[in-house]
Amino acid sequence: MSAEPEPTDLPLADDPIQSEPLPPEEEESPPAQPAPEPAQPGEEQPLPPAPEPPPAPDLPTNPLVFEPATFYAIENVCLTQDMGGGQPCPHLNKVYTEPLVYSNAGQPVIQCWPCGKRRVFLSATKLDPQPELS
Ligand SMILES: [Zn+2]
Repeated sequence: MSAEPEPTDLPLADDPIQSEPLPPEEEESPPAQPAPEPAQPGEEQPLPPAPEPPPAPDLPTNPLVFEPATFYAIENVCLTQDMGGGQPCPHLNKVYTEPLVYSNAGQPVIQCWPCGKRRVFLSATKLDPQPELS
């Protein structure tokens, strides 16, 4: 009598029904919320990579007169078309308003950076009231 049990099932080397560990059920990510549009309606103009300098503003026909030792808000512009090497100042023809400029002896100076030239004043408004100096 043989007590040896006959193997009925051969061990399968490759179980076709391998139960792979299922990846954790991924929750479907909610649809990305639309980013708030920074652009204002009607002004959706993408900036060109190399913007042309704006046209030169109208310069005042008469030089501005400043009272000495007085604070002004001064609208100014850089007109440096060549900082060297034919490179215009990046602020060329861009009008800025400097809100607090001391007139010193009546000759306020705003120096442009990086061209290092004096900015041309377009208009000046005497601050009223004058800021308190502490
Ligand atoms: Zn400049």
